[in-house]
Amino acid sequence: MSDSPKALNFIEHIIEEDLKNGFSKNALRFRFPPEPNGYLHIGHASSICLNFGLGEKYNAPVNLRFDDTNPAKEEQEYVDAIKRDVHWLGYNWDTERYSSDYFQQLFDWAVDLIKANKAYVDSQSSEEMAIQKGTPTEPGINGPYRNRTVDENLELFQAMKDGKFQEGEHVLRAKIDMASTNMLMRDPIIYRVLHSAHHRTNTDWCIYPMYDWTHGESDYIEQVSHSLCTLEFLPHRELYNWFLDQIIDKNKVRPKQREFARRNLSHTVVSKRKLLKLVEEGVVNGWDDPRMPTISGLRRRGYTPESIRNFADTIGIAKRDNLIDVSLLEFHVREHLNKVAPRVMAVLDPLKIVIINYPEGEVEWLSAENNPEDNLAGYREVPFSRELFIEKADFREVANKKFFRLKLGKEVRLKNGYIIKAESCTKDEHGNVIEVQCTYDKKSKSGSGTAESLRKVKGTLHWVSTKHAIEAEVRLYDRLFTDESPDTHKDKDFMDFVNPESLESITGYLEPSLKDAKPLHRVQFQRLGYFCVDKESTNEKLVFNRTVGLRDSWAKIEQKK
Ligand code: ATP
Ligand code: MG
Repeated sequence: MSDSPKALNFIEHIIEEDLKNGFSKNALRFRFPPEPNGYLHIGHASSICLNFGLGEKYNAPVNLRFDDTNPAKEEQEYVDAIKRDVHWLGYNWDTERYSSDYFQQLFDWAVDLIKANKAYVDSQSSEEMAIQKGTPTEPGINGPYRNRTVDENLELFQAMKDGKFQEGEHVLRAKIDMASTNMLMRDPIIYRVLHSAHHRTNTDWCIYPMYDWTHGESDYIEQVSHSLCTLEFLPHRELYNWFLDQIIDKNKVRPKQREFARRNLSHTVVSKRKLLKLVEEGVVNGWDDPRMPTISGLRRRGYTPESIRNFADTIGIAKRDNLIDVSLLEFHVREHLNKVAPRVMAVLDPLKIVIINYPEGEVEWLSAENNPEDNLAGYREVPFSRELFIEKADFREVANKKFFRLKLGKEVRLKNGYIIKAESCTKDEHGNVIEVQCTYDKKSKSGSGTAESLRKVKGTLHWVSTKHAIEAEVRLYDRLFTDESPDTHKDKDFMDFVNPESLESITGYLEPSLKDAKPLHRVQFQRLGYFCVDKESTNEKLVFNRTVGLRDSWAKIEQKK
């Protein structure tokens, strides 16, 4: 991807400019900094592809840094899932880092701030502090503890660290400017008391650094040259720089924060907090539910890493937030699976047909091409016999000229097999067709070399032999939300837009070659779409997920001709 002659994006322009101004290429370093408070989603994929893509482009190291400063919400399960997902997308990090590894250094620097009279312990309630903070149009005012002596501050901060206080009793604040036009500069909190065990440092600490204090200093410790984050951090940049100014060694790399737009995907939500709610309330079956826009959900659904990377590459990065239609993601998975997924036959809504002139008990194994897009994919054999299933929708007793599928008195070709003609049908007491009797043209077998084998008929149908078909549970998915942008409505909660019909489970009848298919095996059910074996699948009970439908079925292609 990175070697395609594409125009530079605006982040690359910034980097090129820095290099032109003398920044050493060898000093370039990036990081992807997830907070381990949930699973990665498709929005994160953009950030991963951006940071690791820059690493590839400039041959520069990229760290995977867990921003783990909030023990209340972070878990090892999330750390493991994040690592798995980044690897699966095809990226390798230089080193695995944790903000928590820097707790001691961050504490020491905070002590330095106090000594320089640039931080103080505030002992007010959060309500009082909020009032003093002012509003965007009104400056804040100094609180009563702002002028505590250095010694008093040092003593209190140490006591905070030593566990002498309850949560909320004291905080450490940077002493910047309560009248700044940027609210974030109005003496931001940098430490709070939290009596919570941390997934890595356990109970070593009962004070935890705030995100803003941690993030930039962690970038500095790791000597990250370009710290790329999403647009909501633009107003934080001033603070990021103020914090760096307090600790910077001029001989070292000074990280540069730059912001790009968050990627939102239509008909879903990309916020870990909201995704967690879907999991906790049982709307979906876990973080990797195939309806989830998480990387693990997409994987389980049948998406390939290539398709996600191509999607991220196509949408690129932007300076303004916008909504990407999910159909673009679907386009990319279709495009990739078209090349790599073997074609197989499966019938999802079966109608029995009987070939009345085909000998009873006879079975013939027909050769079927695995993927016309891939010469190396080879052939397999599919059994043909007197009784077959086709899709209900592929038969009509009578139909107009545009219906190129099976109708009474007309012919179609069975994929990889013979031309058949519908002679008559049987109905149940409600008038529904339950069986179609057909005849076959014995000489018309595909690939047999006879003139009849080349005979063209307008429709080609997929089918399976009833006797050989394997039953599988097939899960069909629809959009998880009925609204394009469920979390942008002022008067409604995103949960109000959950689509009650996002999952339909049916029984499908598959050709026997799929008997031993293992989880994550991806195939195209011809004329139906792309499907993937689910992780719950076993040899006794196969389970498939529909990844995405096909844009065009053969029938539609034929209609256009
Ligand atoms: P969420 O709101 O889902 O919790 P977050 O930004 O809090 O997202 P982080 O774990 O902090 O999640 O994100 C790691 C990195 O991924 C950050 O640099 C963040 O800016 C980026 N990122 C998160 N969501 C998106 C998105 N939708 N589009 C692009 N980048 C994103
Ligand atoms: Mg976050």
